[in-house]
Amino acid sequence: MSSQQNFGQHPGNKGIDSIDLKELLECAPDAMIIVNSEGFIQLVNEQVQNIFGYSKEELLGQKIEILIPERFRNNHTKHLAFFFENPKTRPMGAGFELSGVRKNGEEFPVEISLSPIGSENNRFVTAAIRDISDRKKATQQFQQLLESAPDAMVIVNHQGIIQLVNEQVRNIFGYENEELLNQKVEILIPKRFHDSHGQHRSGFFASPKMRPMGAGLELSGVRKNGEEFPVEISLSPIETENGKLVTAAIRDISDRKKAEQALQDSMDELNRKNKELAQFAYAASHDLQEPLRTVKSFVELLEKQYSGQFDERATKYFNFITDASTRMSDLIKGLLDYSRIGRDRVFQPVDCNRIMGDVKADLGALINETHAELEVTPLPEKLIGSETELRLLFQNLISNAIKFRKKDAKPVIRISSESAEDSWKFSFRDNGIGIAEEHWERIFNIFQRLHNKNAYEGTGIGLAHCKKITDLHGGKIWVNSNPNEGSTFYVTLKKHL
Ligand code: ADP
Repeated sequence: MSSQQNFGQHPGNKGIDSIDLKELLECAPDAMIIVNSEGFIQLVNEQVQNIFGYSKEELLGQKIEILIPERFRNNHTKHLAFFFENPKTRPMGAGFELSGVRKNGEEFPVEISLSPIGSENNRFVTAAIRDISDRKKATQQFQQLLESAPDAMVIVNHQGIIQLVNEQVRNIFGYENEELLNQKVEILIPKRFHDSHGQHRSGFFASPKMRPMGAGLELSGVRKNGEEFPVEISLSPIETENGKLVTAAIRDISDRKKAEQALQDSMDELNRKNKELAQFAYAASHDLQEPLRTVKSFVELLEKQYSGQFDERATKYFNFITDASTRMSDLIKGLLDYSRIGRDRVFQPVDCNRIMGDVKADLGALINETHAELEVTPLPEKLIGSETELRLLFQNLISNAIKFRKKDAKPVIRISSESAEDSWKFSFRDNGIGIAEEHWERIFNIFQRLHNKNAYEGTGIGLAHCKKITDLHGGKIWVNSNPNEGSTFYVTLKKHL
C-alpha cells in the first residue's frame, strides 16, 4: 500500500491530494493502526508505541491480534472478516468492554473506532485506539464513591434517563443495576407522580443547584414489586463530559416514619389515658364529697344533740371521727383542685409582681403571726401563663416556706427571678428545716408528706399542684436543700408557650 492516499477529486483540493497519510496519522491524538483485509498491520503512528510499547518495526507486517488479549483473538479474526464485508465507519464493539494488551503483557481498557479506507478491491481498515485506563479508573473511583454512600444514588441525565446507580439502589428498590441503566427514572416513582416529575426535572436542569427534593413534601418511591414507600431525596447537579447530570441521593425513610407514627400513637394514647385519669380523679373526688357531707352533717347533729351525754371514751372516739372526716374532706378538696388544674384556663401576659402582691396580702395573717420576712426582687412583668395557676404556685411555695420554718428562727424568704434563654427561672429560698436529699423527688408526688399532721398541717398536695402547674407551663420544678439550714425551690417557666 502506498502512503499517498487519494482524498477525492474536486476543484480546489489539488493541494490536499498530496498530503502524506503517514503525516496525517501522526497528528491524531489516538493510536492509529491501518490493517489490511487479512489482518496484517500496514501502518502505525507514534502513539501506538506509547500505548502498546512496541516499536513500529516490531508491529509492521504483524497480525493485528498481537495487540489483543489472547482470549479474544479467535473471535477477532471473525469480526475482522465481517467488517470487510460491511465496511463502514463505526465504533468497535459498541456496548462492550474492549481490551488491548501491551508488549509487557499488561491488559488495558480501550475504546476503538473503525473506518474503512482504500478502494473496493484494495480495502484497509483504520483503527483509532484510545487507552481509557485513566478514564476507567476515574469512573471506578467515582463508582466506589457512589458505593460508599449510605443512600441509594441514582444519576440521571436531563432527559431523565438513568446513567449510573449504586448497590444501595438494588437494596431499596429491588432492581438489578442492569434493569435500571438507560431506563427512565420514572420507573422508581409511583405512576401518579410521573407527569409532575417530568416538569420538576426540567425545572431542576434549568437552575441546577444542590437542594433537598420537594422540601416539605412527602415523597414516595416505588419498589420493583410495586410497593410504595416514603423517601427523602437530595439532588445535586454534576458536570460531565456527557453534559449536565443530576445525582439523586435517595433514603428509604419507612422505618423512621413507622417510628414517628408509633411515637405519635403512644403520645395520643398517653394523652387519652391522662385525660381519662383526670376525669376519673375529678368524678371520684366529686362523688366522694357527697357521702362525706352526709357523714359530716350527722357528726354535727350528733355533737349538737348528744355531746352532753358522751362519756370520756365516747368523746375521744367522736373527736377521731370529726378529725378524720375533716381531713378526708381536705384531701378530697385537694384532689378535686388538682384535677381541675389545667381545665378552662386562659394564657395571657401576667405581671408576676402583682401576683406576688396578692399572695402576700392573702397570706398576711400568717406572715404577721410568724414575723416572716419576704424579700422579693423585681419579677417578670409579662409572663405568659394562667394567672390563677401562677398565683396558686407562688402561694404554695411561700406558705410552705413559712410552714416548714425552724422553731427558733424567724422565717426569711428570698424570691428572685432571672432570665434564661427561653424561660424564666424563679427561686424561692427559705431558712427552714430543710429536706434530706432522698426526698427531693418524691415530695412532688401527690399526698407525699415527710411529717405527720400533728407536726405540720397539710395534705401533701401543695407541691403536686406546683408540679402540675409548671408542667402545664412547659417548665420544671425541683428543690435543693441542706437539712436544718433551708431549702431553695427552683421553678422554670417558658417565655413562649
Ligand atoms: P404539705 O405542705 O401539705 O405537706 P406539700 O406537697 O406542699 O404538702 O409538701 C410535701 C412535703 O414536702 C411537705 O410535707 C414537707 O415535708 C416538704 N416540704 C415542702 N416545702 C418545704 C420547705 N419549704 N421546707 C421543708 N420541707 C418542705
